[in-house]
Amino acid sequence: MDSPAPRAFKRARTEDGDAPIVRSDKIWYDDGNLVIQAERTQFRVHRGILSKQSVFFRDMKDLPQPSNAAEALVDGCPVIELQDEAEDVWYMLHCIYDTALLTRPPSFPELLTSLRMGHKYLVAVMFDSAADRLRAEFPSAIERYSEVEFSRFTTSADNNHFELLPVVKAVGLETVMPALYFFYVNFRSAPQIAAGCDIVDVDVCSRSSAVLPSAEDRLMLLVAFNKILRSQDEYSLRWIWKGSDSCSRPTMCDKARTEYREARFSVFDGTVDLCKWCTITAKQLHEEGRDMFWKVLSSFFGLKPWEELRDFQIEWCEAIVLIA
Ligand SMILES: [Zn+2]
Repeated sequence: MDSPAPRAFKRARTEDGDAPIVRSDKIWYDDGNLVIQAERTQFRVHRGILSKQSVFFRDMKDLPQPSNAAEALVDGCPVIELQDEAEDVWYMLHCIYDTALLTRPPSFPELLTSLRMGHKYLVAVMFDSAADRLRAEFPSAIERYSEVEFSRFTTSADNNHFELLPVVKAVGLETVMPALYFFYVNFRSAPQIAAGCDIVDVDVCSRSSAVLPSAEDRLMLLVAFNKILRSQDEYSLRWIWKGSDSCSRPTMCDKARTEYREARFSVFDGTVDLCKWCTITAKQLHEEGRDMFWKVLSSFFGLKPWEELRDFQIEWCEAIVLIA
């Protein structure tokens, strides 16, 4: 896997930019020994505290040295500039200084920021908490998928769940992908998938700066949508083709199954007029079909089998030598 680390940091530019450089009013510790700049905002922090939570800052061997003392020191502290939005850097530093923040459900934008920034700067406490929430929300076990109440993070009407797809891919959470992709297929319409947008007004998405799934990924979901619909007879709807060997009224039960087959294309809800024995058989076939479907779920999306899916873990890259 490619190194997730930022390519480099560089000495803060103080000579250009249209807006004046401002000090963060939330993260500026007078006894801090490092100044981080993002966009036109500076944060004064403690390198030791950052090193404790972030592999990136821990392994940052060589701070840029100012070529002349007046150039890059701010209040005697070296300055590094990160190529991120100030708001993202603020949230990352906020989490590093107050890890208790991560124990409560994040908002949807905070979840995305935790994944991106936690992955980029190797902040394990931040990345792991977000990844755990996603793994709980989009589990790899069908029993857990059935129990999910979609409550591990808070969303609002203007959130677009499709923003998760490119982030989950970028940070390498492979075990989350099948259930996440199935969530789109199951709960979003084909036009929403085509637009990569779950907001009713798809124009809002096209105007936003959010990173949406690529055209390739949207097509992948639509193809999977079609394949899954067409394959239901092999899986959860297997029962509509087969009655019980002990059926007590074959003509009536066959008629009920045929009517169901022709009238509806949905999950078995037990309301079809079948005899007792065919109902038992139908429920068994339905359950078996769901399990069979779940086993091959990842294949619909062109993913590897479940047992080969792996999630990125920050421990893996502790030895990476970062280039200053
Ligand atoms: Zn029957």
